[in-house]
Amino acid sequence: RFNKTRFIPPDAIFALTAEYLQDPFPRKVNLGQGTYRDGEGNPWVLPSVNRARETLSAQGLNHEYLPILGLQAFREATAKVVLGSELLPSRRLSLSGTGALHLAGLLLRVCQSPLPKIYIPEPTWSNHHQVFSSLGFSCESFKYYDHETRDLDIESYYSTLRNAEPKSIVILHACAHNPTGCDPTKEQWREIAQLMKARQLFPLFDAAYLGFNSGNYDEDAFAIRLFVGEMKMEAGICISFAKNMGLYGERVGCFMLATDTKEAAVNTQSMLEMLQRSEVSNPPAFGAKIASQVMGMKDLKEMWFADMVTMSSRIRSMRKALYEHLISFGAPGSWDHLIRQSGMFGFLGLSPEIVLKLKDDYHVYMAGNSRISIAGLNPGNVEYVARSITQCLKD
Ligand code: PMP
Repeated sequence: RFNKTRFIPPDAIFALTAEYLQDPFPRKVNLGQGTYRDGEGNPWVLPSVNRARETLSAQGLNHEYLPILGLQAFREATAKVVLGSELLPSRRLSLSGTGALHLAGLLLRVCQSPLPKIYIPEPTWSNHHQVFSSLGFSCESFKYYDHETRDLDIESYYSTLRNAEPKSIVILHACAHNPTGCDPTKEQWREIAQLMKARQLFPLFDAAYLGFNSGNYDEDAFAIRLFVGEMKMEAGICISFAKNMGLYGERVGCFMLATDTKEAAVNTQSMLEMLQRSEVSNPPAFGAKIASQVMGMKDLKEMWFADMVTMSSRIRSMRKALYEHLISFGAPGSWDHLIRQSGMFGFLGLSPEIVLKLKDDYHVYMAGNSRISIAGLNPGNVEYVARSITQCLKD
């Protein structure tokens, strides 16, 4: 039965972290995995989360199952914070728990026949293709980024949407595009929404960085609110609280679906409940309790918003510091793209050979496509990283 099975190599980013952990070099730097680090390079528990944790344990935590659809307070608070309270009553919503992208795929698979195509930007987060192709979807990559101009290729984007098969699904990074750090402008988002509406394309938002990108939650939720609120489109929204609440290992997420009618919301919610039952049954409770506490209490929500400013500002200052060091060391080439990008990642534009050399000779670890997690930089290592890149390029 298992003799003909194929070996699947481990996920590249997790394998890179394992390699980094084995490396005894004292000045090694991990810019691979996208996890926030403080100015000393340590994981950071958000003060708002710490406070919520204290409140929850003072109230007495139990370990009962959550309902299959997840914690109701969490689902309601998530919808409110993502869509804004004005939008909420005007749209029908069904919500569900973690594994949001996968759950979205499961639902879309049973709702449409024949199976729609899924358009995915190239490059994209490494898991998108896996999630949807493992569900049997045919994934079509479209050019999102121009490696020459090192910027978003908006014309290619528009032309993909103009020529897409009607009723297909399009994956949209709500903000802080991973890995390029290049997002459409507000005007470009408007055009994207109009083109999609005209061809009845279904927007499936992957929203893993709301509030973490700019430090302003409303600003980062602009595209979602435009499609759902202003354009009145049906849309799927996959929310992660890994980055913006620092709840990585707690697996806190939410799938929200905006539908045209109340009946469709009720029905799709019942389908999501059935699908979730066969997947994980009951979603994890602890993180959802923390997140609903943070979003539901006025003072904690304010603290959380301030925490997101702390994280995004530190990342922005490290991006600037890296840029300035590269310029002052005379690193060959132009580095303006680094400053134009936003969010957690810097998309450096280095060749795979240079990426390998940086790891082998300088112990600086980054994804093979030269995406760096800027959060891995701090005042103690940014100069070393810039010098290493410069030397590698000059050798
Ligand atoms: N989408 C994107 C674009 C991401 O970068 C990430 C996190 N790396 C996720 C989804 C998934 O986050 P989670 O840890 O909540 O599964």
